[in-house]
Amino acid sequence: MGKKVLIVEDEQAIVDILKFNLQNEGYETLEALDGEEGLRLAREADPDLILLDVMLPKMNGFEVCGAIRADGRAVPILMLTAREEESDKVLGLETGADDYITKPFSLRELMARVKANIRRRNLDANANSATRTAGGLSLDEAGFVAFKHGKALDLSQKEFDLLRLLMASPGKVFSREALMEKVWSYDYYGDTRTVDVMVRRLREKLEDDPGSPTYILTRRGVGYYFSDEV
Ligand code: CA
Repeated sequence: MGKKVLIVEDEQAIVDILKFNLQNEGYETLEALDGEEGLRLAREADPDLILLDVMLPKMNGFEVCGAIRADGRAVPILMLTAREEESDKVLGLETGADDYITKPFSLRELMARVKANIRRRNLDANANSATRTAGGLSLDEAGFVAFKHGKALDLSQKEFDLLRLLMASPGKVFSREALMEKVWSYDYYGDTRTVDVMVRRLREKLEDDPGSPTYILTRRGVGYYFSDEV
């Protein structure tokens, strides 16, 4: 059975074009024309990926995204943001979106991102069960759950992926570009701000004092690494 993609978008013309192209690639599609319906379908139909517009009637995309994450659902969410609205991108990632694409988007790029995000999710689901620990943190790699001193942390899929990657090689410094490629599975054409937002968000959830982190450290001018001294 094909993977199920939920399209939450209030412009019927965009819904139609997304639907057509996704179905052509073998995906099943579900559509919602407002935020409330989108949230309902996200909960009831358990999609494999959600394409989520920001400006929606009833509930906006950020609210929908936040509600889905508050449910504890790790489904990949790709936000459709207005062009050049930098604040939308950041806010989207902060409410738990995995990725975003700006409107007007190229269908080819959108399809590539859908594919990359679903593939990533499958790789994770098939990964061997393992638990990794360091400095009071532990990762349950099969359950996608991270714990700090035994207490579960509320991480999104990408936050978890990022933490897992960094934790797997303590002391190794990863450039933003390398993190983009490994965590997001494709090239962001130099838009590495996403990495900084994700690291900031991860630190807020992870660190006792996010302002002076002890787990995820910055190597100025190079990138980020997981401390090998925790
Ligand atoms: Ca809209």
